[in-house]
Amino acid sequence: MIRDNPESLRWQPVDCTTCPVPDILRANASKYLEIKLTVKSRFLGLGRQKDIEVRCTRHGITLDDPYVGCPQCHEERPGLEVFQEALPQIDHK
Ligand SMILES: [Zn+2]
Repeated sequence: MIRDNPESLRWQPVDCTTCPVPDILRANASKYLEIKLTVKSRFLGLGRQKDIEVRCTRHGITLDDPYVGCPQCHEERPGLEVFQEALPQIDHK
């Protein structure tokens, strides 16, 4: 994930020990979540800082609280699933 991000610093093993992504994935069962993790240097290179950006790929919105998940997904009922899938897919690339 980090390796695919050109804005991120080189991956280091310590990143995994403090990585919040597994926790977020445990809190959310949604398969539409897209988590972008960017590791940046702090001022003067003192330590490293992680930027987490979580989007719902289904609704194309950035989530304020990744642990809660997408509010629009929560509001939907399973019966609407077919209608949603019939809509044109949005290309995020
Ligand atoms: Zn959603």
